[in-house]
Amino acid sequence: MSHLTNNNTYEYVIIGGGMVAGYAVNGIRKEDADGEILVVSKDADVPYERPALSKKLWLDDEFTEENIKIGAEGQSNVTFRFNTTVNKINRENKSIQLGDDTIVYYDKLLLATGGEPMTLDGPDDPHVIVFRDWSDYRKLRQFSGNNKHVVIIGGGYIGSELAAALVQNDTQVTMVYLENTLGENQFPEAITAEYEDAFKKGGVNLVSGKKAESYQRDGDHLVVALDDGSQITGDTIVIGLGVSPRIALAKASGLKLEGDGIAVDEYLQTNDPAIWAAGDIAYYPDKILGKQRIEHVDHARNSGEQVGRNMAGAHVDYTHTPYFYSNIFSIAWQAIGTLDPSLPQVFDKRENGTIVYFLKENRLAGVLIWNVTVDLDDVRNLLENPPAKDDLVGSIKEK
Ligand SMILES: Cc1cc2nc3c(=O)[nH]c(=O)nc-3n(C[C@H](O)[C@H](O)[C@H](O)COP(=O)(O)OP(=O)(O)OC[C@H]3O[C@@H](n4cnc5c(N)ncnc54)[C@H](O)[C@@H]3O)c2cc1C
Repeated sequence: MSHLTNNNTYEYVIIGGGMVAGYAVNGIRKEDADGEILVVSKDADVPYERPALSKKLWLDDEFTEENIKIGAEGQSNVTFRFNTTVNKINRENKSIQLGDDTIVYYDKLLLATGGEPMTLDGPDDPHVIVFRDWSDYRKLRQFSGNNKHVVIIGGGYIGSELAAALVQNDTQVTMVYLENTLGENQFPEAITAEYEDAFKKGGVNLVSGKKAESYQRDGDHLVVALDDGSQITGDTIVIGLGVSPRIALAKASGLKLEGDGIAVDEYLQTNDPAIWAAGDIAYYPDKILGKQRIEHVDHARNSGEQVGRNMAGAHVDYTHTPYFYSNIFSIAWQAIGTLDPSLPQVFDKRENGTIVYFLKENRLAGVLIWNVTVDLDDVRNLLENPPAKDDLVGSIKEK
């Protein structure tokens, strides 16, 4: 599967082998049965669903690693180059340069390079995992359980989901984060209290309002140094400090950037008609929310499939407004738009949960669905045609 053919010329070349790449291959195949596709990926694995790495694979015994594959590897005429970095794009002769200096020519190019995870000062160590990939999941499986102690740095999605997952898998967990209350950057105060409480009740040791500055190995253990001079000792460290968009290749080749991403139009096409971008790196015009960049799976899946179809000639607008979500212990939440607790909010209490409406300049800007089951298209319609503030409560039906 890894030989370059056709004088190193492909109709479709995809840089990145993550979620967008997987869905884009499937999208291309919906429109074009056999055009040659090359996927060049720094990863070692075929495209897979990342969200399962911090959730379902830990919590559902019936769900195995085989279930996370997107299926792009099963399509015809697809070649994968794994463990390979693209170092350069030469737009003049429509080529890319791989890490081993091989030159590959494209007819149509997709940038799907995702986000680069932030890390922490300290030596390379097999027990320090900057959690992002399938291989990180495999390592953490090996290093957790048996009452081992994992120190998680960061209380965002990955940190909090892994804290909940590990503590339910016979592992001691300490989670360190900057916020005074977990979730306070996204959720209203009334909700953060319930959220943090779920972790306490679940048995996670919470260290709030502290910055992890560095780590060191000390014999069999790792020691994390915090900004107040204190230390936490554990067997393994997991770093979940967020990502920054990988746009260096686009920048160096002179493609138009906007916001902190790669500028694309409604077809997910860059200012070079032979180059597209989607997923975490794309700054795109959302039909309802306006121009934005969003690092979430619903967007990766939908923009990935749409961009693949468009590269193969469909030329259809990307009109899907993505939602985002997380599942922690018995809490399940979903959201569309802006979650910003500094904005005015309207609370809509339901039997088992709450819907929170966030208002910007008196107009609905975001909706948080907390432990309530709704049709997300109703939320999209509400954001597109918001009623007056006083009519928000009760405006979304429960399913
Ligand atoms: C553990 C985890 C859990 C998540 N859970 C959720 C969730 O519950 N809900 C949610 O909405 N989102 C979640 N996400 C986010 C979601 O997975 C991402 O938004 C999505 O993967 C983005 O897809 P992408 O293709 O843009 O980037 P990625 O999937 O990150 O793929 C990028 C690819 O590009 C490759 N690459 C980068 N640079 C180069 C280069 N120069 N040469 C070759 N290859 C390169 C990388 O190796 C990788 O293969 C989660 C992410 C992780 C890591």
